[in-house]
Amino acid sequence: MFRRMRWWMMVCLLGMGPGCRPDPANENLATTGEGISVLVTTGMIADIAQAVVGDAGQVTVLMGPGVDPHLYQPTTRDQRRLRQADVVLYNGLHLEGKLVDVFEALSREKTVVAVSAGIPADRLLGGAESGGQPDPHVWFDVGLWKLATEVVINTLAAEVPGEAKGFRSRGDRYLEELEILDQYCRTRVAEVPAERRVLVTSHDAFQYFGRAYGFEVFGIQGISTESEAGLRRLAECVDLIRERKVPAIFPESSVSPAAVQRVGQDSGVRLGPELYSDALGAADGPAGTYRGMIRHNVDLIVEALREPRL
Ligand SMILES: [Zn+2]
Repeated sequence: MFRRMRWWMMVCLLGMGPGCRPDPANENLATTGEGISVLVTTGMIADIAQAVVGDAGQVTVLMGPGVDPHLYQPTTRDQRRLRQADVVLYNGLHLEGKLVDVFEALSREKTVVAVSAGIPADRLLGGAESGGQPDPHVWFDVGLWKLATEVVINTLAAEVPGEAKGFRSRGDRYLEELEILDQYCRTRVAEVPAERRVLVTSHDAFQYFGRAYGFEVFGIQGISTESEAGLRRLAECVDLIRERKVPAIFPESSVSPAAVQRVGQDSGVRLGPELYSDALGAADGPAGTYRGMIRHNVDLIVEALREPRL
């Protein structure tokens, strides 16, 4: 497919091709000569890929707002999109638990890369304390997401060497924006006194956030939403909230609120606003981009935890 794209680009460059205009209705841009076709799993990865690809191709995302990647099953349409793409980028570390076999099979015929592959093992969390599974929620440490950005830049540059310079310069601009975002997070969290830096959320997605920005983090469910929280875990969370006088706990946009509501009722704590954890928000909302999502979460967390529990 990619060879076919290059042929078509050549025809366009020579001015010989009929209708060398892009066709926005056609998802499979690899065959329309519009550039590299990149398929990504989550909105967070799409944000990097769109910034790096720019006008050199098209990025398609499998999982939209509110979709839980831990439970996501590919549809027939997704299978077609996966077959048509030149490059597939996914998070890895078992985030897309139901897609592991699909990626394995696809990697025999095209470039399929986990963006988390650029993160050194000693910077990953999880492991023994989570049943041997590394924690996949690496995007909540903006510093680690910069390493994922490098993976995207390098993967695309190797795939289309002729566009490498553009990928690199757009990628560098994106990395600068991530640096600003990282600084924003550090500045804002400094408003929360140390004793109230306790973050209780629906599932255990915020450990990297906690390590990077100085919060103790407690997920009511584990690092995957596949298993529900047991009664003992619910009771532990209630005790913790009372002992530490936690001012608010947080539901998440891509996770059922049942467990967090139960803990809220049993502990008498206020439910804070919904955080965006494993999926971006609506494209036209405040969490429609990766940077928007991180800023939105940090702002909500700071506002809810800054003042003591009444
Ligand atoms: Zn998760």
